[in-house]
Amino acid sequence: MVMVNILDQELIKQTEEICAARGVRFTPQRKQVFQLICASPKASSAYELLEQLQITEPKAKPPTVYRALDFLLEQGFIHRVESTNSFIQCCSCNAHKHYSHLLICDKCSNVIELQDDSLVALLANNAEKHGFTITNHVIESHGICLSCSSNTEE
Ligand SMILES: [Zn+2]
Ligand SMILES: [Zn+2]
Repeated sequence: MVMVNILDQELIKQTEEICAARGVRFTPQRKQVFQLICASPKASSAYELLEQLQITEPKAKPPTVYRALDFLLEQGFIHRVESTNSFIQCCSCNAHKHYSHLLICDKCSNVIELQDDSLVALLANNAEKHGFTITNHVIESHGICLSCSSNTEE
């Protein structure tokens, strides 16, 4: 996630290839919103994305951003951070649909995505004991990231 900017071009190319293989259209607006999400070191809200998009596309309206976000979510390129209503890029956009454990820094809004199948299996197992079938998860932890906690110690 720290490598986002360096990997940006490679990631866009990879994402284009995935879209081509899936036969879905990676329109310029969808691409731009994705690039904005990738470029931001922190989770971005739809409003922030709209403001940034309007710098190059003054005519962009909220539905432009929401439609692009829906597409990116559907394709699994980004995740919604439910507790802060913002968006981050997925750390493995080629992966199948997966549940992530998100570590959200309350100081800098940086989000770290962890994929731990054993955690998801544990949750499913616990639910099963109650005859409950899980169809969706929101696994989000709030706290202070490493760089913020080392900054305060200086
Ligand atoms: Zn992911
Ligand atoms: Zn932080």
